[in-house]
Amino acid sequence: MIQITNLSKTYKPKKGQIVEALKDINLVVNKKGLVFLLGKSGSGKSTLLNIIGGLDGYDQGDVKIFGKSIKDFNEQAFDDYRNTFIGFIFQEYHLIESYSVYKNIALALELQGQKATKEIVLEVLRQVELEAEIERMPYELSGGQKQRVAIARALIKNPKILLADEPTGSLDSETSKQILELLKKLSKDKLVLIVSHDREFAYTYGDRVIELADGRIIKDSNPQNSPALISTEVKTIKKARLPFSDAITLALTSLKIKPARLIFTILLSLFAFVLFGFVDTVASYDTIATIVKSTHENGDTHMPIVKQMYDIRNEYYENACMSKDDILGLKERFPNRKYFPVITGRVDINGTMFKEPLGTNEYYSLSLSGYVEITEEFIDTFGFELIGDFPSNDNEVVIPYYIFEAFESFEYRKGEFKYEIKEPKDLIGLKLTDDEDYIIVGILDTNFDSERFRPLNDINAD
Ligand code: ADP
Ligand code: MG
Repeated sequence: MIQITNLSKTYKPKKGQIVEALKDINLVVNKKGLVFLLGKSGSGKSTLLNIIGGLDGYDQGDVKIFGKSIKDFNEQAFDDYRNTFIGFIFQEYHLIESYSVYKNIALALELQGQKATKEIVLEVLRQVELEAEIERMPYELSGGQKQRVAIARALIKNPKILLADEPTGSLDSETSKQILELLKKLSKDKLVLIVSHDREFAYTYGDRVIELADGRIIKDSNPQNSPALISTEVKTIKKARLPFSDAITLALTSLKIKPARLIFTILLSLFAFVLFGFVDTVASYDTIATIVKSTHENGDTHMPIVKQMYDIRNEYYENACMSKDDILGLKERFPNRKYFPVITGRVDINGTMFKEPLGTNEYYSLSLSGYVEITEEFIDTFGFELIGDFPSNDNEVVIPYYIFEAFESFEYRKGEFKYEIKEPKDLIGLKLTDDEDYIIVGILDTNFDSERFRPLNDINAD
């Protein structure tokens, strides 16, 4: 519904330097959901929000709302847009102090040329759980209650989009949570766009978090905004197994696709390194042939493929992104395989998680690398089994069975607390901690045969 292309905005203050507040922003935002614009002060969040809300102009690029370019709006169209499409919520509430709650809200409707009734106002106050305060004056309300009035005032216009600039910036953390819960609820049937610098809130409540720095988007947790698969009960999906020749996993480094919400971490590189290391030590002959042979004999159903570029001057290999042609080439040569993109990245699971650092142990890794956007088709193709759920949030992950085994062997610790892990579902709801917390919502049984690598474990254990 909002489509922003190559948007740039510069401020030219009367005194001082020109400020490039937004630089080449490209963004698509869907109709519903809670979306955070996250960033430090001065990163351009408010500028972006104000442009979307029609409060501020821009220099370059285009902003389309429901397919219509804002550029083509005349003054009347802008007024209509702000009045009917957009509801604004600000950090400082902007209530009229000499008006009651009722009058503050009624005014918003009257400014649109509509008649306000007590019924209508009560209806929106009900949504923000403030019916009882309808006759109060703003100074008789707490900060959180004032913000609820401001939200009700925005809601009465029945806008398609709610824009909130630091809506909890003046509230304590408990009240902030209540306001965010409320906005989350409202985002079930409209778009709620929140500007914030609070990372924890953003990732806890947001369906999507767009991070800005220095006028640019530096991270977008869910660019495609694919519909979430939401389910709370623990369920099992079991699928038939396929032989090796039918499936290959394709590892693409720094691929230009988005690590969307349905992400799970798979231990591709560990798998590969263990295999390579193992093979290398026993094979004094053709390494590649040995890998292929052992992979085949072991009945592996999938393998990572990585493209590497050799830097002649510095004499090292660097992972490179596969091009479309690379993939087409592979498909031509091996048409019966299935290819799935993998996004490289690392999640460290060290220290606090295990009983003791696993430093000397080659078999259990301290970090996971590689993310796969998992789909039913993916599970289907490999004949995997998902214990638990698909992630439905950006901070949720599915982990491979291997990680479960590591926790089973070494126990799961979080600070002083330790949890006994006996079966995969004991891990559901616990966290993998890196820079951010990832809540484990499922375990993917990849038919990984750990017995094969047990000797490595034993060699290094002592
Ligand atoms: P944020 O909301 O992330 O704190 P803003 O969008 O308000 O950031 O500001 C982005 C940049 O643009 C900042 O460097 C800020 O100083 C500058 N800026 C914002 N508004 C104006 C203005 N009216 N005149 C000049 N510079 C401005
Ligand atoms: Mg701001």
